[in-house]
Amino acid sequence: MIQDIAPSRLDNSWQAKQPQPDSILMCFRDGRLSAAVTDGELQFPRLKDIGGQCETAVFLFSIDNEDFFLADTAGPNDYSYYSMRELRDQCTGKYLYAAFTAYHLHIWYADNRYCGICRGKMQQDSAERALICTECGHRIYPRINPAVIVGVISHGRILITRYRRGYAHNALVAGFTEIGETLEETVAREVMEETGLCVRNIRYYKSQPWGMAQDILMGFFCEADGDDLIRMDENELKSAVWCKPDMIELQPQQHSLTNEMMQLFRDTNGHLPPKIFTRMPDVLPDRTRIYFTRHGETDMNVENHVSGVTDCALTENGIMQAQQLAAVCAEQGDIELILCSPLKRARRTAEIVAAQIHVPIVTDERLREWNYGSYEGQPRGGSPEFQAAKREFGVRMKDGGESLLQLAHRVYSCIDDIRKQYAGMTVLCVCHGGVCRVAETYFKDMTTDAFSHFFMGNCELRRYEL
Ligand SMILES: [Zn+2]
Repeated sequence: MIQDIAPSRLDNSWQAKQPQPDSILMCFRDGRLSAAVTDGELQFPRLKDIGGQCETAVFLFSIDNEDFFLADTAGPNDYSYYSMRELRDQCTGKYLYAAFTAYHLHIWYADNRYCGICRGKMQQDSAERALICTECGHRIYPRINPAVIVGVISHGRILITRYRRGYAHNALVAGFTEIGETLEETVAREVMEETGLCVRNIRYYKSQPWGMAQDILMGFFCEADGDDLIRMDENELKSAVWCKPDMIELQPQQHSLTNEMMQLFRDTNGHLPPKIFTRMPDVLPDRTRIYFTRHGETDMNVENHVSGVTDCALTENGIMQAQQLAAVCAEQGDIELILCSPLKRARRTAEIVAAQIHVPIVTDERLREWNYGSYEGQPRGGSPEFQAAKREFGVRMKDGGESLLQLAHRVYSCIDDIRKQYAGMTVLCVCHGGVCRVAETYFKDMTTDAFSHFFMGNCELRRYEL
């Protein structure tokens, strides 16, 4: 990136220095900088090149042992004036970073010649980087505009945009922070405004000073929340598309944080290493999310027999389903805790997921499957007697089984407790088909018909929000 100039170092601490003959002068005219560009190599005029005198020069910064000054004077004739965009396209290295940083300071000085309180003349303070009004003493400090760059991810793809105006190459969602807004709110708002997407799991990556627009850019990755259909703001953007890692076309230069983020996603094939991130607070911290899943396949599932509370193990296929579920959960990236039925088939499924996403498992009796009494182990299609009895299951299940009302009572009480105990968290409940069906009624308005036809496949994942 443009600021990565090590082993050189830019030191911007203020010093009341006077320019020496070899000091570099940054001479701006109409926003363009006096410079010479030869084969991408950037050079700036020095004080000795303009006759060794510049009364009004203001110290900007140093890079290693070279001092840079802002000079309110024309550059020498054998230098040309370049826009920041031209320099960005043609040059690289520490002098390009110097040009961007000098430009930022130049804009600040140029925009603040007069006092906003009394219209008096402003002048550079001798002790710090500040301007003081010569009339009323009003003091102002350099202005930096915070802005965010956002890599939005969905199903192994990243959202690549192109701006309608300005920079012509691929970019990510970006925008300025508004007054009174947190950075994470900026991320959520900009993504919503430009593409109509909700986001979650916002993670901070890196920042970058971007003097060309007087910005400090902060890079974030996050995931599309729910529906990932793009509704593009056509005033801001020319295009916005989901892009697989190998389809990403990078910018022609490696100056920008945006480019580094696109490259990182491409080079890791979409598997961003967790250790590069700092997790940000959720924009809506109160929202509790609960995933429900049914255990992997068992022999009794294959035979299509009623399992109920009969404790059976997963098949080979069931283990594979659990592994696939684990991969999906890892991609979701937000599950913090697993609640699990005590039955073996659920427990094993939960353990396979937990091993991949590294979260604790808590067993909850209330997630145990519906107790079918004497119908345990019977064929699911069932005898005529089973079919007839089924009509009564709502209110009674003979031989020590549970009625649907009893089942609903414990499942609802479990979800109520999750809401209280794990408020603001994302929890995965690993349980059973019957339990999942009841859970669905907790969150959704269902008809009797929809309820009786509800089916949850092995390791299918459903997500609810509170
Ligand atoms: Zn004033």
